[in-house]
Amino acid sequence: MTTSVCTNQLSKIGEQLVAAANQEQVPSSELLKTLFPYIEQASPKMSSRAISKWLADNHQIKISPATILRALKKGWDTKAFEKLGFQPHEINLIQGVLQRGTGMLLVCGPTASGKSTTLSTCARTLLQQPRFSMVTVENPVECKLPGAHQMSATESTLGQCVKAALRSDPDCILVGEMRKEEHLSFALDAAITGHSVLTTLAVKSAVQAPARLLSMGGSPEIVARALSAVTAQILVRTLCPICAKPAQTLPSKEEMRGGGISATWLRKKAGRLMEPVGCDACGGTGYKGRMLIAEGFSNSPEIKRIITRENGDPQAIRNEMHAQGGKSLGQQAINLAATGVVALTDAIKLLSLD
Ligand SMILES: [Zn+2]
Repeated sequence: MTTSVCTNQLSKIGEQLVAAANQEQVPSSELLKTLFPYIEQASPKMSSRAISKWLADNHQIKISPATILRALKKGWDTKAFEKLGFQPHEINLIQGVLQRGTGMLLVCGPTASGKSTTLSTCARTLLQQPRFSMVTVENPVECKLPGAHQMSATESTLGQCVKAALRSDPDCILVGEMRKEEHLSFALDAAITGHSVLTTLAVKSAVQAPARLLSMGGSPEIVARALSAVTAQILVRTLCPICAKPAQTLPSKEEMRGGGISATWLRKKAGRLMEPVGCDACGGTGYKGRMLIAEGFSNSPEIKRIITRENGDPQAIRNEMHAQGGKSLGQQAINLAATGVVALTDAIKLLSLD
């Protein structure tokens, strides 16, 4: 077990936990007691043995809405998601679900946004565990996952394949994409019966996902119970650094309002906002490469309330995502535009997802 710590105040405790973990020792009771003030969900009267067990079972301790002390299994590849371009907030979300071992991780995004790559990275991470059983049901199988039993399905047989896969009671079931009520129904069933479920949904932002699940026929209570975390991702074109030039076309007042961009912000960043031109190095396109932007939230009590009482209202979910420390796709795109990596016009288009 290794430990990652997210705040400066806790870094000392974290270092000691890592040191204990690296020597494969259970952290000392004195050390565990220093964690007491930071544990929201646990009773301060818990014994150090109980804390130790709880840490081992839950793999994380929520210290505040934005801070989570996480215990990672030895050998866990923490870099895999970083390499895909995920930021720490979304990496923590994804790894939190994978470590929990039950519930649904829903990866959203438009076609060709890299959802399958994210899903297979999740699967490979889980398959690093000894004796881990995984069944994948895809239409068709997209990439080989050594150690997993992979089933190729059509849209009409996918639901039945998920049902059949559940009979073998795997630790995790990966469902390529939920397109119909039947797919959703079996995937939700799997998630609330103690399985880890990895799946995708073709909605453009994470905040829209719960409402989409309800409109596909999911019962609010079941969706609220089944979800562990929702992420959404998009691949945005990056500017060719050789030919990009300062942006001449600035956003309209309406676009600025929609994206929460103030005139002051625009004035301050004006020199750094860029637009594409085109040169020999980029084949005249003005762009070179793409980068991933992702947003996400974990299924907190507030998210459950919004799903069951407010039909998964995207605006309310967005507010809760911000409260959890997450930034929306549009916000992140605008931040990237302010560094000159992404064209301002492309970032503004992404604001429409917010
Ligand atoms: Zn160029």
